[in-house]
Amino acid sequence: MSLRIEVLSGLGEKAPAAILIEAEGKRLLLDAGGALHPGQSTAWTEGLDVDAVLISHDHVDHIGGVAALPAELPLYCTTPVAAALPIGRDWRPLPERGECRIAGVPVTTGQAGHSLGGVWLHLGIAGGVFYSGDACLESLLLPFDEPPPARVALLDASYGVYDTPQAQCRETIACQLCKPRVLPVPASGRALEMALWLDALAPRLGVTWDLDHACREGLETLLSLPATLRREGLDANIRGLVDASRPVSPKLWLVADRDDDPDDWPAHRLLHTGYLTPRRQRQRAAGEVDWLRWNVHLRLSHLRVLVRQLGARQAIPLFTTQVSEVSELLMMPSGLALATEESDVAG
Ligand SMILES: [Zn+2]
Repeated sequence: MSLRIEVLSGLGEKAPAAILIEAEGKRLLLDAGGALHPGQSTAWTEGLDVDAVLISHDHVDHIGGVAALPAELPLYCTTPVAAALPIGRDWRPLPERGECRIAGVPVTTGQAGHSLGGVWLHLGIAGGVFYSGDACLESLLLPFDEPPPARVALLDASYGVYDTPQAQCRETIACQLCKPRVLPVPASGRALEMALWLDALAPRLGVTWDLDHACREGLETLLSLPATLRREGLDANIRGLVDASRPVSPKLWLVADRDDDPDDWPAHRLLHTGYLTPRRQRQRAAGEVDWLRWNVHLRLSHLRVLVRQLGARQAIPLFTTQVSEVSELLMMPSGLALATEESDVAG
């Protein structure tokens, strides 16, 4: 069977996600990413001709390009993700964990451990094509489901060859929380697990903290989903967080990222924990803001685990400038290097 994979955007850089899969005469678009910062190209949307679009999760670099697509193009996503679509956009449900057929192609989904309602996608064609979307194996809150075997793996390699365990990241960040801080975070992503972490940590550090309305809403949405979509034993803590009365003038703030600037928070210092736009990279270089990573993507050891679990013959690292370095390090247990020429892959 013929399989053609074209990475329209997202290969060789941290860029909007858009992957075209062509098999059995059908063309599926995996993700429809928008710009992560002003000036980033979204030219991949021009002249697009596909049968359906599947969205992995609600972050802008995966869903932000939907507005530029024809309104009649069938679009599939999970219910929590649909809340981030342009108002009035038609959509069809994608299971949070399960199977369906889209344009005749068998599709399996599972939890990606990265965000509220976020899934990985597996297409039952040509020995299996797996697309991780953004994924993480280290979330304290969001589970990662083991996917079925796949010959080709399109993987979230946003961190390149980076491989620091999340426990170490948390320790490093904790050391920075005794000063007045604001942590701007994606409300549907790491905000939720950071909130639970701070809930346990802040009393030990003796600091007061609060979370904004958007982060609290994210926690409420998470509680409203089936319990199997979050790790066990946390519901009472989440409920407590949602209902708790909050301190006046807290030392720490967890807030939905709205492109905050140092001027917006004169009494606090910004501590970023995720992707830095070029503007924020300049602010960091000038010593105006701080940055410490909180893992929400697959690090190198976990890319390896996933390739092994999938039994993949070909791995395509996405969203990184370190394509050749990661490819080289993703060796099969037999010592067979993953080649990129096995299927017709263009980018
Ligand atoms: Zn994401």
